[in-house]
Amino acid sequence: MSTETEFHAGGRAGEPVVSVRGLRMTYGTREVLTGVDFEVHAGEVVCLLGPNGAGKTTTIEILEGFRLRSGGEVRVLGEDPASAGDAWRARIGVVLQSWRDHARWTPRRLLKQLGGYFVAYSTPGRTRPYEVDRLLETVGLVEHADRKIGTLSGGQRRRLDVAVGIIGRPELLFLDEPTAGFDPQARRDFHDLVHRLSDLEGTGILLTTHDLAEAERLADRMLVLADGHIVADGSAEALSRQVAGTAEVRWSRGGERFVHATEEATPFVRRLFEQHGEEIEDLEVRRASLEDTYIAMVAASESGARHAPTLAEVSR
Ligand code: ADP
Repeated sequence: MSTETEFHAGGRAGEPVVSVRGLRMTYGTREVLTGVDFEVHAGEVVCLLGPNGAGKTTTIEILEGFRLRSGGEVRVLGEDPASAGDAWRARIGVVLQSWRDHARWTPRRLLKQLGGYFVAYSTPGRTRPYEVDRLLETVGLVEHADRKIGTLSGGQRRRLDVAVGIIGRPELLFLDEPTAGFDPQARRDFHDLVHRLSDLEGTGILLTTHDLAEAERLADRMLVLADGHIVADGSAEALSRQVAGTAEVRWSRGGERFVHATEEATPFVRRLFEQHGEEIEDLEVRRASLEDTYIAMVAASESGARHAPTLAEVSR
């Protein structure tokens, strides 16, 4: 994906498109967010992960300006979402979990209609809206452009949702569980689309997902939200490295299976061969997967371990 020096679409290079400091949210007496800190930069794809009820939707809705926070500092495209106006809203895109409307309209007509709203928000650096034919092509809906929306399949409908979210050529896009219900091909197409948006348009993207494989494939950076705050912030690789010091070595000898957990897999295997030579069979060395890492992090923070593994920002 893009590097910071390539950014041009989102304004001043290097300035975060999202900046969150000490964000708190209380529902009644229940503190859901106790101090959330993170940033998103232009052209960056950031994935917000966390168990159900962790506060992912709450966080995203605060950034979108749909929910008022209890405390903390939030800047989105340089403004406070709690007070930002229409011109700001025209610069962000939102794809909600589901959106049902206009069943008798066609994708082309809906996109044309919605696009009209953004004309007034064109800038010299960013013409708005997206040209409808080009957008239909981008999301893979050319063949279905003139069908009634009510007759689209689930995957096609979801691609239309994305088109609706990006018709105004947003500088920042929020995607809440964007591929829920997608088949593997639709999922792959969607991932390509996200990469195109971040690479070619410089769009910053913040998405939530439950699917770790998806997060790994899509995100430049992952944020893990648990116990009211961000317990990990880094690339998939960095996250795995942080917790995955331990490897599991499995082998069999004389028909018996053995398993050994070690932080020093290579010397261990060397010693194993020195000791047993050709008797060793079926050797396997397995590093913790991202899923193991994620589960370990969430479990550590939920069990109240205040020093759950926290990553320093890790550059790509
Ligand atoms: P996630 O998206 O990570 O599943 P949510 O942000 O939806 O988490 O919810 C976080 C917590 O806040 C949950 O326990 C949920 O029940 C609670 N919550 C969310 N919205 C409200 C609300 N409007 N009023 C009271 N509690 C809420």
